[in-house]
Order: sequence, then structure tokens, then C-alpha cells
Amino acid sequence: IPDGMRCSGCGIQLQAEDTSKPGYIPQQALDREPVICQRCFRIKNYNESSSVTVEQDEFLRLLSQIGDKDALVIHIVDIFDFDGSLIGGLQRFVGSNPVILAVNKIDLLPKVTNWNKVRNWVQKQAKEMGLKTLDIVFCSAKQNQGFDRLLDMVQEHRGDRDVYVVGATNVGKSTLINRLIRDYSDLEQELTTSRYPGTTLDMVNIPLDDGQYIIDTPGIVYPSRYSELVSPSDLGIIMADKPLKPAVNQLNAGQTLFFGGFGRFDFIQGEHQSFTSYVSSRIKIHRTKLERADELFAQHAGEMLSPPSREALEKLPAWTRHEFRITKNSNVDVFMSGLGWIKINGDTGCVIAVHVPKGVKVLVRPSLI
Ligand code: GDP
Repeated sequence: IPDGMRCSGCGIQLQAEDTSKPGYIPQQALDREPVICQRCFRIKNYNESSSVTVEQDEFLRLLSQIGDKDALVIHIVDIFDFDGSLIGGLQRFVGSNPVILAVNKIDLLPKVTNWNKVRNWVQKQAKEMGLKTLDIVFCSAKQNQGFDRLLDMVQEHRGDRDVYVVGATNVGKSTLINRLIRDYSDLEQELTTSRYPGTTLDMVNIPLDDGQYIIDTPGIVYPSRYSELVSPSDLGIIMADKPLKPAVNQLNAGQTLFFGGFGRFDFIQGEHQSFTSYVSSRIKIHRTKLERADELFAQHAGEMLSPPSREALEKLPAWTRHEFRITKNSNVDVFMSGLGWIKINGDTGCVIAVHVPKGVKVLVRPSLI
């Protein structure tokens, strides 16, 4: 393989030696046009990902190069998994370079949404996580919303700086980059896009119409998100693809909600009140008595409480329980990274617990909507 030859899908350096490592391409496929690695080929043609991964260290090494440059950074986050997809240490890596926060997948929020409230929320949350943002743009890569504004903003602020696009896996970075290519670049070849995390493996330069470049970076893998833990087919289930339909449950203390077999919410103590779940509509919410919940799970996980299937469940880490005391008059979400959140509407306070696979990020945050 010619030295330095790269996959025109994901940008990784090609190699013909090791099928399990990134960039593998069989010798005979080198004649194919475009030249893409086996992984991209499979994703494109069979919508199936093979199991190559990039090291976290490698990602941080790439990211810290940005701090040494005069750059403009576009950080893409997923509104559905905001706290799980925001790169916590980004400010440290990019130094004094300005960051535009592109909040993607806004098509998932309910049709009736107070966007000013969401904007303030995003601003506040980002600040609390140590990120200074030059500006915030809402977009939907899927519905092609927000890009004109994002591009305008980039033009306004870039000067002669390089523009880096960074994000966790699965936030829609490839989809967004593909849109940029379609609308603002002359490239015929689109990048690889798939719903499997970690698709984009290396830095890719994308030439724009005006002669400048946008640089796509690999997606950072956070193992604290459901999306990194579940099987590819279950990923298609937990990831909402339609506007979230809030599911309201009026509960008494001592009741439990199961989210299929993915997780569980216990109302332990407090007055009768309503809890609103924002999860993918493909997850069935099953309500039961708290005292019966353990038994029910032991007997019916993978069947009545599914997906995931029994086999898929066995591959997930065992659940851990996180208990929270919610003070009265607080308007909060109990957030489970990648699965969604439960809004607590009570004015009276309560004690609740969630059960999620070990390692999944769980937190209580001011409510998004
Ligand atoms: P990457 O890993 O960040 O490059 O993410 P991809 O571009 O591969 O997208 C991951 C998944 O999110 C895919 O299933 C996309 O269809 C989906 N996705 C991307 N952008 C949007 C969006 O704006 N709205 C919704 N609902 N889904 C999106």
C-alpha cells in the first residue's frame, strides 16, 4: 500500500496487514473506487460496523494539538445526551481558542419547546462544565436545520484560522460533516456515516467552496454512555429518532418504572406526584410495585422487560443503584446518559432511585424542558 494512503471514507491510514486494526483494506480492494477501508466499506454497503476502536489517549493527543494552534473550534453535542456528550476537558485542550457549541438533534425535542429557555439552559450547563462558548447554535443534521447560521458564524469568526470540528461519538458529527460537504464543498465523495459510535477515525480535511478547510476529528469514546454499551441493534432502539413524546406517569411512593430491560426508576418516598419520562418511543415503560421489582426483573428480564434480549442483557454490565433526595420546589431531571431523562414535576420533594448498567453516567440537573 502506498505510504500515507488514506481511506476516503474515514480518513484513517490504510494498511493490509491486520484485519482487526483500524484502516485495514484487502490488497485487491485497492483498485476499487473510491478507496475505502474495510470498515467503511461494510458500514456503507451493509450498514454493519466491525469492531475496531481508537485509543482514548490517541484522541487526547490529537485534541491537544489544537491548543497549540490558532484555531476556531466547533464542538458538536447531542441534545438528547447533552451531559454525556459534552467534552468536559475541552477548554483545557483548546486553550484560548474560541469554541462554538453546535447543539445537534434538536429535532428530537418536542414540537412545542421554549427555545429561549433551552438556550439559557445550554449556556448555563456548559458554563458549569467549564466550557466558555463564543456562541451556541441549534441544529439538526437530519433535517438540515441550523447550518446556514453555523456557517455564517464560522465565516464571521474564523479569519484565517483553521476550523476543527470535535465531538463525542454518535452526536451526529459525520452527518453534519456530510451536510457541509453536500452544501458547501465541491467534493463528490461523502464521508462515512453510520449510527455506530466511533465511525470517524482520524483527522479529515474538508475543502470548502471558498478555498478554506474544515477539519473533522475522530469521535471521542465515553464509556459512560448507554450508546457505547448496548449492541448495535439496541442502539437503534435507545436512540430516539422522532421527537420525544413525554410519557407522564402519576405515581405513588412504592412504585417502579422499568424502561424495557435497560433501566429502572423507583419512587421511594414522597407524596403522589407525576414523573415525565423522555426516552425513545421504542422503549416500553412498564409500571410495577417497588417491592416486586427485583423479582419481576429476575423473572422477566429479556422477555416481558425487553429489549434488550436475554443474550444482549448478559453482555451489559450489571445494574447499579443511584439514590437521590430531591428537595421541594426544585425543577429537575434525573438524567441517564444516552437513555434519556425523567423530569420530576413535584413541588413537594421526593426520594427516588435509578438502576442503570454500572458505569453509566447518572446525574440530577435543572430540567431542560
Ligand atoms: P458521529 O458518530 O458523531 O459521526 O455520528 P453520526 O453522524 O454517525 O450519527 C449518529 C447517529 O445519530 C445516526 O444514527 C444519525 O442518523 C443520528 N443523527 C445525526 N444527526 C441527527 C439529527 O440531527 N437528528 C437526529 N434525530 N438524529 C441524528
